[in-house]
Amino acid sequence: MKALIYSDLKTMTLGTRPIPEPEPDQVLLKVRGTGICGSDMAGFLGLSPRRQPGLVLGHEAIGDVVKMPTAAPDYSAEWPFQIGSRVVVNPVTPCGRCLACRTGKVNICESWNLLGLDNVDGAFAEYVCIRAANVFPLPDSLPDNRAVMVEPLANGVHLFTLITGSAPGSLVIYGAGTQGCLMLSLARLLGYRDIAIVDLNADRLEVAKRLGATHLINPRTADAPAEVRKLFPGGADVAVDAHGNQAVRNACVASVRKGGQVMLLGLHEGNSQVDFATVVRNEIRLQGSYAFTEADFARSKALIESGDIDLSPWTETLPLEAGHEAFTRLTTDPGAVMKIMLTV
Ligand SMILES: [Zn+2]
Ligand SMILES: [Zn+2]
Repeated sequence: MKALIYSDLKTMTLGTRPIPEPEPDQVLLKVRGTGICGSDMAGFLGLSPRRQPGLVLGHEAIGDVVKMPTAAPDYSAEWPFQIGSRVVVNPVTPCGRCLACRTGKVNICESWNLLGLDNVDGAFAEYVCIRAANVFPLPDSLPDNRAVMVEPLANGVHLFTLITGSAPGSLVIYGAGTQGCLMLSLARLLGYRDIAIVDLNADRLEVAKRLGATHLINPRTADAPAEVRKLFPGGADVAVDAHGNQAVRNACVASVRKGGQVMLLGLHEGNSQVDFATVVRNEIRLQGSYAFTEADFARSKALIESGDIDLSPWTETLPLEAGHEAFTRLTTDPGAVMKIMLTV
């Protein structure tokens, strides 16, 4: 089968792989399309230690079931799909045994695996195997280029479940890429009305404006935390870091009010020096957010199906053959594109 292989640093090559043989509890999917994720881009750039050359990347997959699992489901029900069903993939396969798994927090499982990570080939290929419990049928009314956002949006759904307090207050989002814009759309749905968004990319700020951001801040021309404090006296209630480096982490701390919350999603850098004196004195809550639970994924799918969140005007579809060009463009000059889906 055709597969897009991460063959070397900043290099994607179209090659071939044998069609994978599913385990008894897996389905074989004929891939329709797979979105390029920020974490795939990190791999391409050599910034993701668990994505090494030789691997097929990709986990944001839509496909058709071509082989059913041979093991029966562990509950007395039929699988909710059949041969030919078009499904979206939850790429996170948790161990099911650790304390996190047994308390429903599969996103922080001790030993999960993910499509397109470590030694598990991903979905930039014609076929992929995935645990049968991880595929969910899609309604005919939902096109692939909208369904491809179910997995990315689940990250934002999870992040918002970790914000404490009930009434939506003022919010600043650092980063107007895919995650930033999805979280902006989600925040609007949740009732946030004062939303500032910060990005260096003017095209992406325009997209954010269309999606309902009330204030656009470009750090090329303004000091972002000072601007946030002008808009929201005392600082924002919540800052979201959708980028994840030292400058943005500190900008988030400097943007929230006393008692405010900083939600950390981006993982551009591992270590950062952060102004902890301000964190302590201002009683700022720092909260990491990582991936999503099965409940978050289900909620995300419902939101995408309802049409309430739709980034398809900024979603591009390209053939797998254009994979190298797509990765190169997304990691150098993405413009207003929020997602590229590679089709087989
Ligand atoms: Zn992803
Ligand atoms: Zn586990």
